[in-house]
Amino acid sequence: ERLKNDFQFVDVGRKDPNKLAASTRKHQFVEIYENFGETEAASQSHRCLECGNPYCEWKCPVHNFIPNWLKLVSEGNVLAAAELSHQTNSLPEVCGRVCPQDRLCEGACTLNDGFGAVTIGSAEKYITDTALAMGWRPDMSKVKWTDKKVAVIGAGPAGLACADVLVRNGVKPVVYDRYPEIGGLLTFGIPEFKLEKSVMTRRREVFEGMGIEFRLNCEIGKDVSIETLLQEYDAVFMGMGTYNYMKGGFPGEELPGVYDALPYLISNVNRRLDYEKNPEDFIDMKGQRVVVLGGGDTAMDCNRTAIRQQAKSVTCAYRRDEANMPGSRKEVENAKEEGVKFLFNRQPVAIIGEDKVEGVKVVQTTLGEPDENGRRRPEVIPGSEEVLPADAVLIAFGFRPSPAEWFDEQKIEIDNGGRVIAREEQSYPFQTGNPKIFAGGDMVRGSDLVVTAIAEGRKAADGILDYLEV
Ligand code: FAD
Ligand code: SF4
Repeated sequence: ERLKNDFQFVDVGRKDPNKLAASTRKHQFVEIYENFGETEAASQSHRCLECGNPYCEWKCPVHNFIPNWLKLVSEGNVLAAAELSHQTNSLPEVCGRVCPQDRLCEGACTLNDGFGAVTIGSAEKYITDTALAMGWRPDMSKVKWTDKKVAVIGAGPAGLACADVLVRNGVKPVVYDRYPEIGGLLTFGIPEFKLEKSVMTRRREVFEGMGIEFRLNCEIGKDVSIETLLQEYDAVFMGMGTYNYMKGGFPGEELPGVYDALPYLISNVNRRLDYEKNPEDFIDMKGQRVVVLGGGDTAMDCNRTAIRQQAKSVTCAYRRDEANMPGSRKEVENAKEEGVKFLFNRQPVAIIGEDKVEGVKVVQTTLGEPDENGRRRPEVIPGSEEVLPADAVLIAFGFRPSPAEWFDEQKIEIDNGGRVIAREEQSYPFQTGNPKIFAGGDMVRGSDLVVTAIAEGRKAADGILDYLEV
C-alpha cells in the first residue's frame, strides 16, 4: 500500500480541472474552471508525496497545512479537511481560485520538477466548496465570548480575515465598508470569470452565522467618524486597501476614451450586480478597438472583460518581455486563448487624438540592467516609434496607497510611499502609531495579493487579542 502511495505521482499525472472552451467562455462572465469531482479530487490529492519538507507550506503566505488536508481529501474526509484548512485560512475557497499558485505553493511543490505539481489550489477550492454545500459550518460551540468589541474598517480580505480570527476568540467584530457588499476587490475588482460573486455572498452568510456584523454603505470619515469608532470600540483594525491609480505621466491621458482600470472593472460589476446608480457610469467596450496598458493581474482582467463586452479588438502593450510580466502565467495564457493580442517590449509615450483618443504612440524597448528591485529595466530602442490605433485605452499601471485625511490627527504614521507603518515584528504585531489602531493588507504592504492581505489581517487579529489581553 505504502509503495503504491509513494509512486502515485508516476501513475497519475497532474490534471487541472476542465476549462470551458475559449469560444464559449469569451461571451460569458462565469468562472472558467469546472469543479473537481470526488474521485478526481482524491486521486489528485493522493499524488502528494508527503515529503518530509513541505516547501509548499512555507511558500504559502498563510502556511496552510497542505499535505495534511491533501491526505484527508485522498481518504474522502472532506469535512475534516475543511475544518483543518480553516485553521490557517479565512477564505480558502477564494485563495484556491485566485492565488498565483505557480509562484507560491505549487511552484514550491517537490513534484514541480518534471512530474507536475500537485493541484493544491484546486484541491483547496474543492474542500471548501464541497464542505459548505454539504452544510458544514465553522464550529463556534466552544467559543468563550468576552465583552470586547472591535471595529474593522474595510470588508476586503484583510478586514474579513481579521474579523474571522477575532470572532473565533470571542471578540465581537463589526465590519464597516463604504461599498454595498463585502469582499473589497474580491467583489469590486476581480471579475466573475475568476471569482463568481456567489462565492462572496455565501461567505458573508457563513461569517454572519459566526457572529460577525457588517455595516455596509458606510464610509468611515464621512458617514461615521474615526473618533466615534475609537470611543465605541476597544480597538480598531484598518484594512482599507490602496486606491490611488498610477498614471503614465505622458501626454493625452486626459482625452475622452481613456479610462483607469479599476473604475472600468467596477462599472462592469455594478451593471451586472444591479448596483449601478446612473447608466452613464457604465463603460462599454462593445465594438471598440481597445488598447490595455500594463502587464499585471489588473491588466489581464481588463483585457478579458473587454473581450467579453465584445470589443472589436483587444491589444495589451507591456514594456518588458513576457518572462518579466508580473501577472499570473495562468491568466496570461487564458487571455491569449480568449483572443487578446499581446505586444511585449512596448512602452507608451503618448496617447494621441483630437477630441478623443485615436491611438497610442509606443516605442520598442529592450531589457537592460536590473533596477533596485532586481527587475531588468526597459531601455528604449531609438527610432522604433509606432502608433497603435485605438478607440479606447485602459490604463492598468497599478495602485498607490490612499492615506485618509484623519491619519495625522490620529498619529497614524505613513512611509514615503504613503503606506501605513504597522510592523509584524513588534510587541503587538501590526499596531500603528496609535496604540488602539491596527492595520494590514494592501494599505500596509502596497498593492499585493489576496492571500498576503489575509495573512496580515490574521496576524493583526493576534496582535489585537494580545493588546486586549484576551
Ligand atoms: P481591498 O480588497 O482593497 O479592500 C479594502 C476595503 O476597504 C474596500 O472594500 C473599501 O471599500 C474599504 N474602505 C476603504 N476605505 C474605507 C473607509 N474610509 N470606510 C469604509 N470602507 C473603506 N490578488 C490575487 O491574489 N489574485 C488575483 O487574481 C488578483 N487580481 C486582482 C485584480 C484586480 C483588478 C485588482 C485591482 C487586484 C487584484 N488582486 C489579486 C489584488 C488583491 O485583490 C488585493 O491585494 C487585495 O484585495 C487587498 O486586500 P485588502 O483587504 O488590503 O484591500
Ligand atoms: Fe496555495 Fe494560496 Fe492556498 Fe496558500 S492560500 S495553499 S498559496 S492557493
